[in-house]
Amino acid sequence: MNELKKTETKDKLLRMDPEQPFQFKCGPDVPCFTDCCRDITIVLTPYDVVRLKNALQISSEAFLDQYTIIIPREKRLIPMVVLKMNEDNEKRCSFVGETGCRVYDDRPWPCRMYPLNMNDDGTFSLIADPLKCKGLEQPDHARISSWLIEQGVPMYDEMNMLFSQVTTPLQAQELDIDNPKIYQMTFMALYNLDKFKEFVFGSSFLDRFVIDDVTIEKLKRNDVELLKFAFDWVKFGIFGQKTLQVKEAPQKTNG
Ligand code: SF4
Ligand code: SF4
Repeated sequence: MNELKKTETKDKLLRMDPEQPFQFKCGPDVPCFTDCCRDITIVLTPYDVVRLKNALQISSEAFLDQYTIIIPREKRLIPMVVLKMNEDNEKRCSFVGETGCRVYDDRPWPCRMYPLNMNDDGTFSLIADPLKCKGLEQPDHARISSWLIEQGVPMYDEMNMLFSQVTTPLQAQELDIDNPKIYQMTFMALYNLDKFKEFVFGSSFLDRFVIDDVTIEKLKRNDVELLKFAFDWVKFGIFGQKTLQVKEAPQKTNG
């Protein structure tokens, strides 16, 4: 087999189809349990933050302060929000507990996907070192697509797709925004959702946009609905998309 063919075959093996069986099982029985929750870069999406701050029952602001590092990116409207590792405990994730992940049900997307990563073409690649990740030696098999459902990935994918409608156009265009307030407001809407809620319900916001009562109730009670609304607000404010409708100014009457 020539070198080109060998590389193509290797690439096909590395890129696994969603219907392909996948041998893996992680849990307290594996000798490496929680070893991978250490010294890693986990980039958080807005939905990850919502799930985690609600799991911990703290505000989005407290979560960002206590558990993340916010890394500004030059000429980028949205900074990178990274889960902080605990420097005083061998750079372990702050959520590693005696019996595993303390926020397991609400763990971020990369933790759900591990040891896989999704490629742009919808295939999957193994990102864990097979010598270290002993879960890859376990006898359990499942189709990747079923395993992803078990991990609760589809809801994250849905929310991350909505987030990408904000980030993708931003990556494609050079930003010419020098007003720091726009950066602050965008970050607030996407990542500091409790502050955004205060802004929506504690300012003249509702006087300026047409929002029906049912939607207002949903935004009050449901953080996921509020986050979807925040995406729409950013798309309206930054890209001028018609995601929100501005109220018409009342007609002035004479006499
Ligand atoms: S959030 Fe949980 S699964 Fe993810 S790195 Fe931290 S302890 Fe591990
Ligand atoms: S290294 Fe693999 S098997 Fe070990 S805890 Fe991490 S994901 Fe599970």
